[in-house]
Amino acid sequence: MKLVLASSNPGKLAELRARLEPAGLHVVPQDAFGVEPPEETGLTFVENALIKARAACVATGLPALADDSGIVVDALAGAPGVRSARYAGPGASDVDNVARLIEALRGVAPAERGAAFVCVIVCLRHARDPCPIVCGGVWEGRVLDAPKGDGGFGYDPVFFVEALGRTAAELSFAEKNAVSHRGQALAQLLERLARDRIVEDFGNP
Ligand code: IMP
Repeated sequence: MKLVLASSNPGKLAELRARLEPAGLHVVPQDAFGVEPPEETGLTFVENALIKARAACVATGLPALADDSGIVVDALAGAPGVRSARYAGPGASDVDNVARLIEALRGVAPAERGAAFVCVIVCLRHARDPCPIVCGGVWEGRVLDAPKGDGGFGYDPVFFVEALGRTAAELSFAEKNAVSHRGQALAQLLERLARDRIVEDFGNP
């Protein structure tokens, strides 16, 4: 079963593939089909995931999977949220975004630095699928004032997970996937695909 991934983020792709390939779901990034990412105009992770998945379906005629995710920070009233990828401006790198977040929280006490990674994964069987599969996960932590660790991607180096005593960038790939927002959403997705026996019905109508 081939699914187009409506993203070109290599970090996401690796985490999704690790969980989906063993279940027989072959994930191909939309770059491979020359799909241009749509503008993410939604105010919520769910809206943006649907926009991305639908655009990938329209462009390829294949079933699509989209992950919209980001970090929501208590002290910033939920920012950067859906703007996480472009927090430091259009085309910002992970390093730029992390630097902006550290700056935005300068002087904020450790107890006030609560945050969560949020992930919504949407699966659309075709562009007009009226019943998308929508799964989600939330992973709570705290934003550090300096990066630690060199694994993962995005905001992982400043996301400290109290229960594990390490940042997300200090966890192994498998440790992160077992507990992360994306890991939770993927577990739900696999459950839904199996329960709804939807895999067999995935083709275009
Ligand atoms: P999206 O591609 O619009 O969903 O943007 C997601 C952004 O949120 C990424 O560019 C990362 O900066 C951030 N993000 C999402 N998931 C993670 C994660 O697992 N670790 C670190 N940062 C993440």
